Amino acid sequence: MKIPENAKKILVFLEDIQLVEQARALDELAMKTMETHIFIKSSISMSDVSNILKQQLIGTHLFICGTWPFIQEIKEKAYLAGFSEDELHYEVMGPRKEKAFCVKCYSYNPRQQEDKISCRNCQTSLLISNHYSRRLDAYLGYIHVS
Ligand SMILES: [Zn+2]
Repeated sequence: MKIPENAKKILVFLEDIQLVEQARALDELAMKTMETHIFIKSSISMSDVSNILKQQLIGTHLFICGTWPFIQEIKEKAYLAGFSEDELHYEVMGPRKEKAFCVKCYSYNPRQQEDKISCRNCQTSLLISNHYSRRLDAYLGYIHVS
């Protein structure tokens, strides 16, 4: 993770206390002298998370570390609170469960980290853009013409 220069404050959400030891990005954070708050899933409720996020000023960045479902859950709350994609940073433990949306047949496909996939539904070869649609909760897959 690269902490942007314009970040004034970092909120860290960890799924598990063990991640304090494991998360690589925390080492980097420790080097910076900026206001940092760490929250552990077991000691905070999801409605507290929402409230905390809503109280933040511009310049606050989030760092979320845990499994993909945990990251998705916090991300969702962050979007509702008005955070933008570039204010959110993650370190995923275990598999990512991203989706790619086929623009041809409008179906969802599971995506790991590959840039090109074949649609499960219509077999169209799709190029996965880095455009993430919050509305669809998926990356857009464009038709690949070779
Ligand atoms: Zn398709």
